[in-house]
Amino acid sequence: MIELENVTKVYRMGRVQVPALQGVSLSVQQGEMLSIMGPSGSGKSTLMNVLGCLDVPTSGRYVLQGAEVGRLGDDRLAEIRNRKIGFVFQTYNLLPRLTALANVELPLLYGNGHDARKRALGALERVGLGHRARHRPAELSGGEQQRVGIARALVKNPSILLADEPTGNLDSRSSYEILVILQRLNREEGLTVVIVTHEADIAAHTKRVVSMRDGRVVRDEPVKEPRQAASDGQGMERGQ
Ligand code: ADP
Repeated sequence: MIELENVTKVYRMGRVQVPALQGVSLSVQQGEMLSIMGPSGSGKSTLMNVLGCLDVPTSGRYVLQGAEVGRLGDDRLAEIRNRKIGFVFQTYNLLPRLTALANVELPLLYGNGHDARKRALGALERVGLGHRARHRPAELSGGEQQRVGIARALVKNPSILLADEPTGNLDSRSSYEILVILQRLNREEGLTVVIVTHEADIAAHTKRVVSMRDGRVVRDEPVKEPRQAASDGQGMERGQ
């Protein structure tokens, strides 16, 4: 589903060139759940931006479900991004004046708004927040706000979820609640989930860990026994 071949990304800052990705090759199959780890500045966000079609490689090939992304114009790129990819952010990026329901509905308003409310409610139910639909973000816990963020990412039924430090602002209990949801979406709905994290404990809940350094993939290994986040949000169990 995702195929990167020797992808580079060079940012130009005045006369200086910053090589953010230096020949990344990576393939991800549909239904995988993987994490991308690495120190700050190693190129994780740049890689996420390329994977998410927010940016195109300087050189190399990126093929997403058969389409070569580097060759697409901005309009086609935006269309692919809207149709195939859901983004989850560390800081949730919810609009404070809108209810949870209206936040989740937002991505639908630009297209065909038909039955948007029903679909938004459906997405909130997928993350177990149907009963909080009318609350504003300030009335929700951090973990609940991130679940709204996930519902918003899901509302257009993407095939890939890209989550950049999705638990970075959360305590461990809320982090496990988020992991429970991401693992369930992956297991039961076959959603491809890519998580950027610098916490080894979060990565241990995914099935594969890709480690980056200086714009390169330095390790790419399966996780032998991915941890299962417990649904009560407390601790975790080895298993399955
Ligand atoms: P990470 O997410 O692992 O912290 P980044 O992908 O943000 O790493 O950054 C990789 C390198 O590219 C860093 O040296 C960073 O300073 C540089 N970089 C990232 N984005 C830009 C940009 N928009 N303009 C210039 N340099 C950038």
